[in-house]
Amino acid sequence: MTVINNIKKMDKPNAKGMVKNVLEQFNNAANHINLHPNIRKILSITNNEIIVNFPVKMDNGEVEIFQGYRVQHNNALGPYKGGLRYHPTVDIDAARALAMWMTWKTSLAGLPYGGGKGGIQIDPSKYSQNELERITRRFTYALGDNIGPEHDIPAPDVNTNAQTMAWMSDTYMSTKAPAERSKNLHVVTGKPIGSGGLDGRDRATGYGVYLTVKFWIEQQGDTLKNKTFIVQGFGNVGYWAAYFLESDGAKLIGVQDAYGSITNSKGIPVNDLFLYTQNNHGSLVGYPEAYAIEHDDFFALDCHICVPAALGNQITENNAHLIKASLIAEGANGPINVEGEKILLERNITIIPDILCNSGGVIASYFEWLQNRNGEIWQIEDVIDKLEKKIKNSFDSVSAFAKSENIDLRKSAYCIAIKRIEKAYVQRGIFP
Ligand code: GLU
Repeated sequence: MTVINNIKKMDKPNAKGMVKNVLEQFNNAANHINLHPNIRKILSITNNEIIVNFPVKMDNGEVEIFQGYRVQHNNALGPYKGGLRYHPTVDIDAARALAMWMTWKTSLAGLPYGGGKGGIQIDPSKYSQNELERITRRFTYALGDNIGPEHDIPAPDVNTNAQTMAWMSDTYMSTKAPAERSKNLHVVTGKPIGSGGLDGRDRATGYGVYLTVKFWIEQQGDTLKNKTFIVQGFGNVGYWAAYFLESDGAKLIGVQDAYGSITNSKGIPVNDLFLYTQNNHGSLVGYPEAYAIEHDDFFALDCHICVPAALGNQITENNAHLIKASLIAEGANGPINVEGEKILLERNITIIPDILCNSGGVIASYFEWLQNRNGEIWQIEDVIDKLEKKIKNSFDSVSAFAKSENIDLRKSAYCIAIKRIEKAYVQRGIFP
């Protein structure tokens, strides 16, 4: 097959736009439930915003200064929880928006957590493994006690992984007295198995994406067999979502990553593509069993299900009219902006919202946190079983409330999440 090299970056999300989106989504639901104005004021702002500047010695002996962020949005339901991403688009606004999404996500999942998010504005592919280790360790050290196992618990996100978390937990624990070291293991989740990590945490987000799609399809009296799907982003979330969808009979017919876009209506075997990207610096460009397409033609591919699993603001007023899928499952956080969503809803396209669709990751993080806190080692069967029950529960409540109120799934998910936080404020009142 002919493959044209198609290198074009995915649309750069605009961080200010992301804050606007999350606030509009929030206000939309807050209006629906008549949220008390005082609680609306509290939830519209972030509690703490930490910016750290720190020096790191590069392999060539030069020192580079990095800026890292951690935004803590709300902790009414428990410690701040959420990932750290390493990406050129990370800034304080992106961290704000992503932290807010975490608050709604953890609340909807019924976890005893609030929401936080952060990261560093870097392109990790430009640094060696040793440099990334030093950057991560210095970042952790600079954050100091702004994070902590019962205060703010980071996890992997875009371009960070189990290795990043191993460096973070080791650095954080090393700053404590020897006798206190082990009781700080749950300062981060998403660690490697063997260093406190949970078996199954790696696939949990993608598995959750798959489950929500399956539950929705089953609700329509249908199955995944022979359904076609496309995935934007072939990282941890995109890969595992595609893997499970394919295992249940669906066919992957298009993929887009940061380097290019490919399609094959006969199907792209998920693991075959994965192995190819592993040997191709993480890029799908040049994959021999598919055709390269133009970047802007990706979302127009004819399919049943579309899984955006990369960055925010990818489906907007500029391309929402092109979408052929009848279902969009948001593996990424904030992949559809408010204007894009209006067009999709008018076209009767169902959206499984991020705070439900990709909540499998933070739910598994909660299991890892419990495992460390209790000195246990959980079996993968139990992890999968518990994850499935939690996601089914959330899915059923979101879909039942959407039906009873005649609203879309996102609004329904937000209403449920906000009402839980509202309840905590009403019960406790505002100090002093
Ligand atoms: N970064 C993931 C998310 O956006 C996981 C967060 C976590 O496990 O704390 O949900």
